[in-house]
Amino acid sequence: MRIGLFGGTFNPIHRGHLRAASEVIKIFNLDHIFLIPAALPPHKTPVTVVSADDRLEMIKLAISGISGITVSDVELQRSGPSYTIDTVCHFKGTYPADALIYLIMGLDAFLEIDSWKSYLELLEQIPMIVMARPHERRQSTQQGWKILEDYFKSKISVDYRFSGSQNCFISAGMQPVHICDVKALNISSTKIRQEVKQKQTIENWVPTEVAEYIKHKGLYK
Ligand code: ATP
Ligand code: MG
Repeated sequence: MRIGLFGGTFNPIHRGHLRAASEVIKIFNLDHIFLIPAALPPHKTPVTVVSADDRLEMIKLAISGISGITVSDVELQRSGPSYTIDTVCHFKGTYPADALIYLIMGLDAFLEIDSWKSYLELLEQIPMIVMARPHERRQSTQQGWKILEDYFKSKISVDYRFSGSQNCFISAGMQPVHICDVKALNISSTKIRQEVKQKQTIENWVPTEVAEYIKHKGLYK
């Protein structure tokens, strides 16, 4: 069994998430990926984040009919803010010990991992897949991986080194961090929220059913 855990705010889910997940399934030969929307602490939630119910519903609409991608509401069922370490423990407890479970995220998310609860324990516990993501301040994916290498050296103070043959960062006692050149789409939820506000069409960026849901519920206006 080979499983991927792909968390995020998904405010809203978009074609960039879906494309990246589909590519990772193929490249890493996964049985399936769970999309896991995060619960946010009420006092810290920006007004632009819509309710968990709406975010969950949009994910369901987006993945209906796509095989290999499912949604998990495990973080929404827990009380309090979502910590990835708890989610990883949950899934490790659910699957047999020989299941291979990866944590999947975009480069932008990984470059903040040192601010996450128990991040070193997380790196000890679960192999990760870091996906390329277009960024206005990076000209190429290669430049992104160089930034990642520097980040490992400066912020993750265990001796990860890059293994070209395995295309991942490795370190004794820690799990590998794979890098993955998905053909990432230059889409973000932030851009979609801005376009809705400016009354522009978002049909290119989200599945039709999601665009209709946003319109029908009057989200992000
Ligand atoms: P926001 O602009 O609100 O931050 P987002 O588009 O970054 O939204 P998130 O819900 O924050 O979406 O991201 C969840 C995960 O998906 C993160 O790991 C992020 O790096 C990854 N991700 C988001 N968009 C893409 C994309 N276009 N290609 C690859 N990965 C992506
Ligand atoms: Mg984001």
